Amino acid sequence: MKEFLDRANNFIKLEEAVRQAQTRGVWSSINVPKHRFILWQVVNDQLLTRNKMLQFRVLLDNVECPVCAEVAESIQHLFFECNLSYKVADQVQNWLGVGGWPKEFQAWKNRLVISNKNKNSRICTAVMAAMVYRLWLNRNNCVFNGFSSTITSILVLLPSAEFCL
Ligand SMILES: [Zn+2]
Repeated sequence: MKEFLDRANNFIKLEEAVRQAQTRGVWSSINVPKHRFILWQVVNDQLLTRNKMLQFRVLLDNVECPVCAEVAESIQHLFFECNLSYKVADQVQNWLGVGGWPKEFQAWKNRLVISNKNKNSRICTAVMAAMVYRLWLNRNNCVFNGFSSTITSILVLLPSAEFCL
């Protein structure tokens, strides 16, 4: 029984260490505040995607992804499966030289754990935060204005004024 409790305790400590590392990555001073906010909501699965609104019993006309209208919208889909978002993210990650964009939400969260280890990692996280913010704006543009930006236009806008306050 003691061995089981020790293992459980170690697991809890490990989870807490991971959580603290993710928190440092998201709230790093190098990240633009509005990017931090959206990134924090994504990390905690609190962004108001359509599946999340359904959990709050909000009545919706449809639950499809507003960008591709092919499957139900969720954070997993919007940032890791949706064709446009995935291509943007993958190109940004390759440009940063940190490998391709993960296909799963949890794998991406695991990357945040190591995102605060040095200056280059923090810069990569800041760019990723800007990209997540841009993808969320594009999603909202699809919802409220009925059209999506192209991959190229999102990539062109990314390095512009995003890092100015
Ligand atoms: Zn989609």
